Amino acid sequence: MPLQTSSWQVELQCPQCGGPATLAETDRVFSCGYCKVRLGVSYGGGHFRYYLAPGGSADDSREILYVPYWRFKGVAFACRGENVEERFIDASVLAGRAPLAPMSLGFRPQALKLRMASPTTPGKFLSTAVPLGGLLSRLITQIDHAEGEEEKAAPLHHQSFLGETASVIYAPVYMEGEKLYDAVLHRPIGRLLTEEEGAGLAGARSGGALSIGASHAPCGPIDAYDGPFDDHRQWQIQFSPMLCPHCGWDLSGEADARAMLCKNCGSGWELPEIQGGALGRLRVAALAGDSPEGLYLPFWRMRMRVDGLALETYADLAMLCNLPKAIRPEWREQPLHFWLPAFRTSPRQVLKLARAASVFQPGEDDFLEDLPKTELFPVTLSRMQAAQAIKPAIAFMGVPKKTLFPKLAEMRVRITGCMLVYVPFTEQGSELIQPAMHASIGGAGLRFARGV
Ligand SMILES: [Zn+2]
Ligand SMILES: [Zn+2]
Repeated sequence: MPLQTSSWQVELQCPQCGGPATLAETDRVFSCGYCKVRLGVSYGGGHFRYYLAPGGSADDSREILYVPYWRFKGVAFACRGENVEERFIDASVLAGRAPLAPMSLGFRPQALKLRMASPTTPGKFLSTAVPLGGLLSRLITQIDHAEGEEEKAAPLHHQSFLGETASVIYAPVYMEGEKLYDAVLHRPIGRLLTEEEGAGLAGARSGGALSIGASHAPCGPIDAYDGPFDDHRQWQIQFSPMLCPHCGWDLSGEADARAMLCKNCGSGWELPEIQGGALGRLRVAALAGDSPEGLYLPFWRMRMRVDGLALETYADLAMLCNLPKAIRPEWREQPLHFWLPAFRTSPRQVLKLARAASVFQPGEDDFLEDLPKTELFPVTLSRMQAAQAIKPAIAFMGVPKKTLFPKLAEMRVRITGCMLVYVPFTEQGSELIQPAMHASIGGAGLRFARGV
């Protein structure tokens, strides 16, 4: 599968010294090149919201309106028929009612830098009216059609989206007379129609249907940009010092890390999940390994409540996967932990590792007392990101698919406990292997993980 990857840059100001800085859109830890402070960046727990700055112009009296786009880069899992399919998506799609605006931002933000939208950003932000999931589902259907694939005959039981990036990007426009202008390039986009003209055209319009790549209508109704608007008073960018709240030591964690460790006291942390929140404490452990030189890869070990499927104990998992071993009585008492990789890797690898680690089901007797001193691979998938792979992983490992898949739509998964566990892997040729789990990660899966 060819990966078309775009990586967009975000411009910001260091809150401590005011120096300029640039982040990749997946970065959550920022180091100031001037005053050297290290800060975690979060956005009140919600999706990050960025905007493209209007281009310079003598006339600053114009009111800027911002048109919302969903920006998604990541994987769509579809449980269809009796298969789990994956598809890589890298898109920015119109997310509001904005008739003249282009359906996609295309590659534009790669030339321009994004800025973080905040309560002080001047302008009005048209409401992000379309939910991301629905938009992506329609996008996939359209790509299928464009690629000449007939309506898929097999029923779609479940679809979920594991986003490396899922954010809103606002593009600026303004009105002059009845014309709508792109406020970056100061070019007219089209003309807004009066009510009478609009009434004549109403029958001909597509009713807001998504049409990727299709040229947009050259005109739209005059009231199109009257609102509703998103409330940007809520958008608080939050900076958290990368210092251990427990002992004050520097936290380690690369720019795109989703969990930070304190090498001094061994505690683990994640960025605030709610507005005004503090760093959240994570339970962290590592599994004992055979080789002291091993590389430790992070996994999320989750306890969950599943409605609509018996998945409470290890015996339930053994039956779900039809493991070729007799079910032992003690398995019926052993609470099941579901394991998922906490690092980015290819989507198929996410499913395979989830199965290998969950079936192996390490116990707490296998945990080391302290974190190892060797290399710990960075956590680049948050708990919430990884959780998007739970249902696809259940579908991937469970049998028989014929009776399991129809249950997926109604199945409800609630995470009730979580722990970050480092699992030792050993290098063998171009692969990393975990012999006890019968798991291996090939060169491609690792390149994916390291983003190269
Ligand atoms: Zn600074
Ligand atoms: Zn500490």
